Amino acid sequence: TMHLAFLVLLCLPVCSAYPLSGAAKQEDSNRDLAQQYLENYYNLKTDVKQFRRKENNLVVKKIRRMQKFLGLAATGKLDSDTLEVMRKPRCGVPDVGHFTTFPGIPKWRKTHLTYRIVNYTPDLPRDAVDSAVEKAVKVWEEVTPLTFSRLYEREADIMISFAVKEHGDFYPFDGSGHSLAHAYPPGPGLYGDIHFDDDEKWTEDASGTNLFLVAAHELGHSLGLFHSANTEALMYPLYNSFTELVRFRLSQDDVNGIQSLYGPPPASTEEPLVPTISVPSGSGTPAKCDPVLSFDAISTLRGEYLFFKDRYFWRRSHWNSEPEFHLISAFWPSLPSYLDAAYEVNSRDTVFIFKGNEFWAIRGNEVQVGYPRGIHTLGFPPTIRKIDAAVSDKEKKKTYFFVEDKYWRFDENSQSMEQGFPRLIADDFPGVEPKVDAVLQAFGFFYFFSGSSQFEFDPNARMVTHILKSNSWLHC
Ligand SMILES: [Zn+2]
Ligand SMILES: [Zn+2]
Repeated sequence: TMHLAFLVLLCLPVCSAYPLSGAAKQEDSNRDLAQQYLENYYNLKTDVKQFRRKENNLVVKKIRRMQKFLGLAATGKLDSDTLEVMRKPRCGVPDVGHFTTFPGIPKWRKTHLTYRIVNYTPDLPRDAVDSAVEKAVKVWEEVTPLTFSRLYEREADIMISFAVKEHGDFYPFDGSGHSLAHAYPPGPGLYGDIHFDDDEKWTEDASGTNLFLVAAHELGHSLGLFHSANTEALMYPLYNSFTELVRFRLSQDDVNGIQSLYGPPPASTEEPLVPTISVPSGSGTPAKCDPVLSFDAISTLRGEYLFFKDRYFWRRSHWNSEPEFHLISAFWPSLPSYLDAAYEVNSRDTVFIFKGNEFWAIRGNEVQVGYPRGIHTLGFPPTIRKIDAAVSDKEKKKTYFFVEDKYWRFDENSQSMEQGFPRLIADDFPGVEPKVDAVLQAFGFFYFFSGSSQFEFDPNARMVTHILKSNSWLHC
């Protein structure tokens, strides 16, 4: 703050000495903006006179550096594109500067980290803040060996707080706009901590400043990532309000960055990840026309079909015959990968997602609060550790759960498991091969998926009417 007051004083005689025309005033305010920006984010040393001299090499160099970093034409001039970018809301951590001057590359020397939400913004209900932070944590947890748990008291590795203006560190916030938040690289005490500027309007959607997006970015800093010059990256320093939240995903650049510090998640020795530089391209990503393609789970969602495989899913609508391919985490960051089962209950506009002994409820792109729940709350005996597949009969309002060679039936009206189950799949669905990977109901048939084969079952005739390739739905 001392430093800012000094600047203002120096500026005064210059500004008041001449009556300025409108254009000259505008030019001055642009220069002030640029100066502040370069000081804050590009480590420009404070020297007003230097800056105001027309041909100043240092300033031109800094402008070029900023333009290059943010993907603008490196003219070294304060053109309108450059000024526009300088006015955009952004992360408060510099693009160059003190973090890089730490000796070594700061990172956590342990894989289990704790975080604590110290206080809340008045803009959002508490559980919305909790879930935004939890989603942000999951984004990084998924692609690293790091695990996180939340503390409610005591000092956590990552202390998360909302504050305005001066708040006890050397980086006071600046009111609404401009700097939105900042975070410290890994280390003890203040290090690793995240501060959100509470003069922003924090929102769950994109109407204000989206808390999840900013939290995910700042967590990247808390874990040791610096800003990326890649405009697709989450670690790009400008807040990208047009990022479609529904489609949020980490860029390959972010994944490469964080894995350079911590490596991939341990499961990735058996389970493929998004291919990184060290993995031959394509080896980790399922191909829809692979003749041995099988699915983890299949569900409808508001008239579309979702085919889950590993960390991905294909999305097929009736109207668009070409299926879309996405990361699960791009739509539902808090959902796990490698699902066991999924089904939609139309009457509740809800898709239920199963993995291990837990299940989640989603509506559109929102994971519902209060989940995951244990599968035993549905009435399964304690011996059942996971289910293989599930489908909900839309007309009869019954949900079928398939586990090895047996199945259970759940009544959606009474919300309870029916008496007389489990029964053998072979008795009631003759011709269908256990074990079942996924089941889909469509056109009055049940489609049972088992490995790369698919059995079309007519429930009225109680027989298999066709055997198809599993990926026939993906136009292969
Ligand atoms: Zn940042
Ligand atoms: Zn701070």
